[in-house]
Amino acid sequence: MDYIPGTVEPRIAQLTVTAPRYVTVAVFAPLRTTFDYLYPADCPIPLTIGCRVIVPFGRGPRPGIVVALAQHSAIEPARLKPILEVIDPTPTIGPDLFGLAQWAADYYHHPLGEVFEMMLPGRLRTQRAVTAKAAAHWSLTPAGHQSLTATLGSRQRAVLEYARAADLTPPALAALPFDARRVVRDLTARGWLDQHLSPSTAVLPSLVDHARFLALNPTQQASFEEIKRHAAHYRAFVLHGVTGSGKTEIYLQLIREVIANGGQALVLIPEIGLTEQLVSRFRERFGNRVAVVHSGLSERSRVLAWQQANTQVIQVLLGTRSAVWMPLPTLRLIVVDEEHDLSYKQQDGMRYSARDVAVVRAHRAEIPVVLGSATPSLESLANCEKGKYGYLEMQTRAGDASLPTIKTVDIRGLVLRAGVSEPLDRAITACLARGEQALLFLNRRGYAPIALCHQCGWIATCARCDARLVVHKSRARLICHHCGTERRLDAQLPGHPCGAGGDFVHLGLGTEQLEAAIEAAYPGRRIARIDRDTMTTPRQLDAMFAQIRAREVDILIGTQMIAKGHDFAHVTLVGVIDADSRLMANDFRAEEKFAQLVAQVAGRAGRTTQHGVVLIQTHHPHHPIFETLTSHRYLDFARRALAERAAAELPPSHVLAMVRAEATDRARPLEFLREIAAVLRTRIPPTVILGGPIPAPMEKRIGKFHANLMLTAPDRSRLTRALSTLVAIIEQSPNAKRVRWQLDIDAQEGI
Ligand code: ADP
Ligand code: ZN
Repeated sequence: MDYIPGTVEPRIAQLTVTAPRYVTVAVFAPLRTTFDYLYPADCPIPLTIGCRVIVPFGRGPRPGIVVALAQHSAIEPARLKPILEVIDPTPTIGPDLFGLAQWAADYYHHPLGEVFEMMLPGRLRTQRAVTAKAAAHWSLTPAGHQSLTATLGSRQRAVLEYARAADLTPPALAALPFDARRVVRDLTARGWLDQHLSPSTAVLPSLVDHARFLALNPTQQASFEEIKRHAAHYRAFVLHGVTGSGKTEIYLQLIREVIANGGQALVLIPEIGLTEQLVSRFRERFGNRVAVVHSGLSERSRVLAWQQANTQVIQVLLGTRSAVWMPLPTLRLIVVDEEHDLSYKQQDGMRYSARDVAVVRAHRAEIPVVLGSATPSLESLANCEKGKYGYLEMQTRAGDASLPTIKTVDIRGLVLRAGVSEPLDRAITACLARGEQALLFLNRRGYAPIALCHQCGWIATCARCDARLVVHKSRARLICHHCGTERRLDAQLPGHPCGAGGDFVHLGLGTEQLEAAIEAAYPGRRIARIDRDTMTTPRQLDAMFAQIRAREVDILIGTQMIAKGHDFAHVTLVGVIDADSRLMANDFRAEEKFAQLVAQVAGRAGRTTQHGVVLIQTHHPHHPIFETLTSHRYLDFARRALAERAAAELPPSHVLAMVRAEATDRARPLEFLREIAAVLRTRIPPTVILGGPIPAPMEKRIGKFHANLMLTAPDRSRLTRALSTLVAIIEQSPNAKRVRWQLDIDAQEGI
């Protein structure tokens, strides 16, 4: 019989009458089955579920995770091979993450071995000594304290007195004039000593800087209390608070409670929301109890953070998407900040949503999870309407700041100078005259998005993508923003009919051109541009933010990069240069994304006592979305959008998954998906609807052709069953080997 993961203590397993004879392993390989092996005869320690092992596999040894131990195997013993090596004495994948991985493998229809592999930092996939630096420590428990007043053996007393003064470490034990190990074991069994793999957390309270916590205002207090009331069980909350309403302050105070009770907290942040400013806010309060993980981290730092979290050396883990898989044995709270942010969705391999995984993790751990946002996703709001999530609202700014005024500027027929209309120009001039800062938002980097040949009218396109090459004038290059292809401005481009080199007309406006034009229009002003071309490292970005806060910049020009979470006290004017291209995008989520973006850039304005103004330039001032945005009624917008989605049978009213296929041959992905769809149609109920297959919105990308098949269903269980059928069909199709295919459950982009 298989042991149920996480319910069998290693020691008990050892004591069972018959030791297991077979081991089932999820091998780190893209295969959806697990494999049986013989239990190693000379195993020095009993193998447990979640341990890493090396097994013979295909052409050579491979690592994997033990998923079951059994007395029987469906395979004939003579055909089974023994495990080659046992890496761990104790499970590297603890019971909580083990269960989460199993859930993810089912939900995302992804091979379990690959899920485990993805959870571990690269080095920990094969190497020993997960807990190398963390030798065991023992500290005195409250019961141990009390026992000191009772009659004790002299050796017991010596050990307990020592533990009262400082943590017992292996060197400390060795220094005692008798074999203290047995005594320690005995005292631990009585509950007088507590064993852990890190320095004692007893020193912790002094590290929390209580003086830095603000007194919560009544609105904050109400949200705080409501979440605290659910501290001991699962509950998901949407904390819908406008930018500056004090959400972060609430997270910090919730975490303080968690730490005081000996727990750990996980805080997820979007990819570009993780700034020094935010990290230092956490460090000021919790000192070295905080670890930070993000995609730019070195492999060594990542392993260290993993170990610190796993051994409870740190209590607060602040991280981007992948941090949701970190081991936190005493996890008591999860926060997902800016929960609507698209960077929570992994766009390759197992395309998980870190927000959704966070909610499931909280559910399994029976702890609360807080989804914070000024513009919650429609998915999360729908869960509030259904009563599945609690809804907490904070519609005013904390402290003295007021909400900015949001207005549209009808630019139909107006003259635009450098993309700036006369009303916006006046506002900029006035703002600068008051000594304040202006921010101009344009989500298009480069000089111009279109290069048109003056001789023949050809528009420069990428040879590897269905995309136009973007003019980057200062570097004298044409660049594809999808594959990174670079060509000189005067190069002979493939596919250019007349072949004239470099006689291009530049059409449209990018941030580089806007910067040059603004410099000319506002002479003597200090201008800064923030996009992926000017800010290539997080350090540069942080230095720039410091400059802005020090008022060394008058006008800031930027893309999405400046939209998130940064606190600019002296920005009082935000100009949205071009709203239309976003609003009119061909994507059923275009309006939602637009509303979120506007609210976010608007959040940069007037964060202190000076009142902020946001001006949105558009050719569609009567679009219904502006009415709700200008009056800060995001919820009204969300309700309308939810009704539209329900009518169109789209998420979140329905659930959706995409099958994505790609190949170097244009026809192949479509043919493959057509073949799969034809079989699938005969095996699924009519309520599961297949859309397509059709070529992807950008069919050619980095030299590959892409096609999609969409599945929608009225509920999750029907979708999951259809996807299981689909995977079975694909795995039997000989053509599956001729394409690269992926599932994208709850797809967000490229639909
Ligand atoms: P959010 O995360 O919702 O954007 P923050 O927690 O960052 O909001 O708070 C916005 C600003 O208001 C910060 O400068 C913060 O220090 C301040 N603030 C937050 N809560 C309070 C409070 N209770 N009293 C005074 N100022 C506060
Ligand atoms: Zn390209």
